[in-house]
Amino acid sequence: MTDFGDTTWPVARKDHRCEWCGEAIPKGEKHAHYVGKWDGEFQDWRMHQECNEDADMNGEIQDGFMPYEHERPSPSHGAEPTT
Ligand SMILES: [Zn+2]
Repeated sequence: MTDFGDTTWPVARKDHRCEWCGEAIPKGEKHAHYVGKWDGEFQDWRMHQECNEDADMNGEIQDGFMPYEHERPSPSHGAEPTT
């Protein structure tokens, strides 16, 4: 249950680490930045755009998730289907 929070979409000014997949978010990449309070704990994390979409779709952003334990989804834009 989210107490409060805000997701913004900044462009990285330095390298960050994605909270979802644990991979680097390179400098210059637009990504999700969440700051807020969740379950009484202060949260401040960043995710790749596609990771944030995946997390959001699964409802795990609301329910809570284990950081760095997910597979990075393929970007939805411009990527060849893997099947
Ligand atoms: Zn990621």
